[in-house]
Amino acid sequence: MPPPQPDRNPTRVYVETYGCQMNVADSDLIAGLLADEGFAAVSAPDQADIILLNTCAVREKAEERIYGRASQLLRFKYTNPNLLIGVLGCMAEHLKERIAENAPHVDLIVGPDAYRRLPDLLRQAGSATDPVIDVRLDKGETYEGLRPAAGGGISGFVTIQRGCDKFCTFCIVPYTRGRERGTAPREVLRQVRDLAAMGYREVTLLGQTVNSYRHEDSDFADLLRAVHEVSGIERIRYTSPYPVDFSTRLVRTLAELPKVCNSLHLPLQSGSDVVLERMRRGYTVSDFRRIVDELREHIPDISISTDIIVGFPDETEEQFEETLSLMRDVRFDSAFMFAYSEREGTYASKRIADSIPEAVKKERLARLIRQQESIGAERHARWVGRSVRVLAEGPSRRDPRQWFGRSEDFKSVIFDPPAGIRAGDLVDIVVQRATSHTLIATGESAVSSATASA
Ligand code: SF4
Repeated sequence: MPPPQPDRNPTRVYVETYGCQMNVADSDLIAGLLADEGFAAVSAPDQADIILLNTCAVREKAEERIYGRASQLLRFKYTNPNLLIGVLGCMAEHLKERIAENAPHVDLIVGPDAYRRLPDLLRQAGSATDPVIDVRLDKGETYEGLRPAAGGGISGFVTIQRGCDKFCTFCIVPYTRGRERGTAPREVLRQVRDLAAMGYREVTLLGQTVNSYRHEDSDFADLLRAVHEVSGIERIRYTSPYPVDFSTRLVRTLAELPKVCNSLHLPLQSGSDVVLERMRRGYTVSDFRRIVDELREHIPDISISTDIIVGFPDETEEQFEETLSLMRDVRFDSAFMFAYSEREGTYASKRIADSIPEAVKKERLARLIRQQESIGAERHARWVGRSVRVLAEGPSRRDPRQWFGRSEDFKSVIFDPPAGIRAGDLVDIVVQRATSHTLIATGESAVSSATASA
């Protein structure tokens, strides 16, 4: 039998991604799945026969943004009348038919558990008069067996857990991504090995509460040990963990495995027990302190970043000051800080009035940011004069004579490249200066050694 001939005019697909790293990983999965079905990926919407918006429902004004983007894309239908526009992901799950009512030129609405059916849904949409909608949540779907499209980088993602069982009152994720489920360890390992075989040196394991990962008898500590064995992968990251799901066994495992990076994003949300209770976060301030203390005891140099929401309903000035005070004590390396805004469909949006005036939220947020900037700068400066191992990514955009990379705790590093350096090399540098966002190692004796990539 002659080998199959490549399709000379494959259907061209453009995927645009919004939101978190999990959505980026899902877009790679979608691109891989469509490539296997003969679709061709393109890098701009005007080259495409199908435009897919992989959306996020977490960010503020996400709904307006997606309607705005979908109507901007409408103009491409005038030059390509067969063009299909699809809305995928959390927003599709959250709004369902409402997208079809508000954006009638959208042809396809597909939730995060229906991507396996996407090739068929696209074929249906090509001949349908009404939008094709598939937003069924499937608590067994972990996308086992699929091969994400690789971007040819040095740092890749593997989704090890989908959904969330925590139901924090401000969050839409459990409703848009369904219940928590872990990907089988053999499947995680297959994907990590695939990345290593393609030259990736770093992998980030993704989950909404990644450290509560379970699959049959395996937990997150077991999975980390198995991933650690994959040769070619030099660094392992994971995000985002849930504070009270750090067992002592897991903390010891993190400390023991040298490839696991000494950096952690640990969402706190508030420094007040009353507010945490109202958010239904499932821990108290003293639980959080205990976890940070335990992590720092076992991993002394660990960098910890966090998320904070200010102005949650009924937050008093005293409760806000408890957050300021806790942040002064814990001294996070960095923080993503937001003023609370209601997300439709969440428990809080239905039961807890958004009672704090916007001006108060804004003022509290400004105070919090000011304080954190000074703590962050002080934490950053501790690296000056110390040796740091950097995963080299490539020439710096500002000055191509210098290179850019990431330290183990995910700080941007600018350094003088040693001769013969390649992307993916591990380079030991001595930090000469630190700005609030970057470590700089340029000039004499900045580079102490380099380890070639595999
Ligand atoms: S842990 Fe809470 S904030 Fe995080 S995804 Fe689950 S419900 Fe949302």
